[in-house]
Amino acid sequence: MIEKAYSICVLGSGESGMGAVRLAVKQGLPCLLSDGGAISDTNKNELQSLGVDYEENGHTIEKIELAVEVVKSPGIPNSVEIIREIKILGIQIISEIEFASRYTDAKIVGITGSNGKTTTTLLTTHLLKSAGLDVESAGNVGNSLSNLLLDRDPEYLVLELSSFQLDDIDEFKPDVAAILNITPDHLDRYEYRMELYADAKFNIVQNMTEGETFIFNGDDHNIQARLYRVNALQKSVRLDEFVLEGAYSEYGYAVFNNPHDSQVLSQDDLPLLGKHNIYNQIVAIQIAMEFGVTLDQVLKGLKTFKNAPHRLEVVEEIEGVRFINDSKATNVDAVYYALDAMHSGVVWIAGGVNKGNDYNQIAELVKDKVRVLICLGKDNEHLIKAFKEDVEVLQEVDSAEKAAEEALKLSNSGDTVLLSPACASFDLFNSYEDRGDRFKAAIQELKRIEQSKHAQQ
Ligand code: ADP
Repeated sequence: MIEKAYSICVLGSGESGMGAVRLAVKQGLPCLLSDGGAISDTNKNELQSLGVDYEENGHTIEKIELAVEVVKSPGIPNSVEIIREIKILGIQIISEIEFASRYTDAKIVGITGSNGKTTTTLLTTHLLKSAGLDVESAGNVGNSLSNLLLDRDPEYLVLELSSFQLDDIDEFKPDVAAILNITPDHLDRYEYRMELYADAKFNIVQNMTEGETFIFNGDDHNIQARLYRVNALQKSVRLDEFVLEGAYSEYGYAVFNNPHDSQVLSQDDLPLLGKHNIYNQIVAIQIAMEFGVTLDQVLKGLKTFKNAPHRLEVVEEIEGVRFINDSKATNVDAVYYALDAMHSGVVWIAGGVNKGNDYNQIAELVKDKVRVLICLGKDNEHLIKAFKEDVEVLQEVDSAEKAAEEALKLSNSGDTVLLSPACASFDLFNSYEDRGDRFKAAIQELKRIEQSKHAQQ
C-alpha cells in the first residue's frame, strides 16, 4: 500500500486548476499540481508561496500516485495517456465542480445544454439577484467555482456546467438542474458518438432524488429519451404544447403551471430575441419561481437584463445594413436558431475549426435566407462543399476585417450581415471573444468611414 502524501493532485494549471489548488490550500489539504505543459511564471510564484508541490512539461505517474484523488481540468480529454494510467491505478478522478461543491452550503442550480447555458445562467442569476437573493454564478461562465468559494459562500449558486465538467462528477447534486437542449457539439471529445455526449450531460441528474427539481426542454428528443434516468421532480418546458407541470409558450404568452398556482406573462415582456431564447428565458424564470421569486419580481428583473456579448448581438447599422455578431455560435444548432431569427437577405459569415459539423440541419434555412456566404477560416472546404449550390455569392477571406469589408460591399440596404460561424475560432483567432471583438471593431471602423463620407458631402 502506497503512503499517500497528497489529498489531491490537480491536473492542469489553467483557471479551474489554479482555483482548485487555492481552495485545497484553504481547506488545509496537501496538494500536488501536475501540468503536461509549461506553468506560467505567475502561477509558479503563487504555487511556491502557497507551499504547493508542482511539476511541469509532463506528468510523472509515480508522483500522481501519491494523491488520494485527482482533480482534472475540463480541458483534458479522457483519451490522453496519463488519464488512462491514473484509471488503471484505481485513483478516483473528479472534476473541479465535484471538488469545489464539497465546500459550499449554498442551494445549487446547475444549468447545462449544448447551447444557451451562459444566457440562461446569467438571466437566472439576474432574476434571483434582482429579487433580493444572495446569489452568484460560477462554472463555465466567468469565475470557477473554486475561485468563487475562496471569497465567500453565497446562499444560492447558479452553475453553468459543460459536459466536460459533468464527465467526472461523483456526489455532486444540484437542488435544481436544467438541461436546455442536447444537439451535436464537442463530438471530437466523445469518440464522435452522440450517445456518449448526451449521457455526459445527463450526469447532472445522477444523484438527484424526489426532493430536487429537474427542468428540461420537453421538445428535445435526446432529452426525452433519457428521462427514465431522472428521479427528481420533472418540469418540462415546451413551445406550442400544453404542459401540466412546468411551462410552455403559446399565442404570445408564457404560462407557468406549478402545483398550486399558474402564472402567465406576455412574450413581449421577454427581452431576448429568437425562438431559442424563449426556451432560455422560460427556463430561467421557472428556476427563479422554484425559489419563490414572484411574477412581479420576474417582470422587474427582465426589464434590466443585458445578455453577454457575442450572442446575436446587434452591433451597428451601416447604409441600411444591420450587422450582427453571433461569434459564440460555434456549432450548427446555434446557427440554426440564428438564421431562424432572421429575415431573408442574409450575408452569412461562417467558418473556423470544424468540430464534426453536419450541415444538413440548416440546408433549407440557408437556401431560404442566405444570399451571400463569406467563409472565414483557414480551411473552408467543408462549408464550400455544403453550400456552393445554395448561395448566389461565395467568398473566402482570412481576417475579421476583410470579412466585414466584403460583407458591406456585397450587401444591399435591408440585408443583415450575420457572423455566426458554426465552428470554433482557433485557426485564425485566440478565442470566440477575439473573433467577435475584431469583427465589431472592423464594423465600427466601417461606420466611421461612412460617417466621415457623409460629413464631407
Ligand atoms: P453556451 O454557453 O451554451 O455556449 P450561449 O448562451 O453562450 O450558450 O449561446 C451560444 C450560442 O448559441 C449563441 O450563438 C446563441 O445565440 C445560441 N443559443 C443560445 N441559446 C440557444 C438555444 N437554446 N438553442 C440553440 N442555440 C442557442
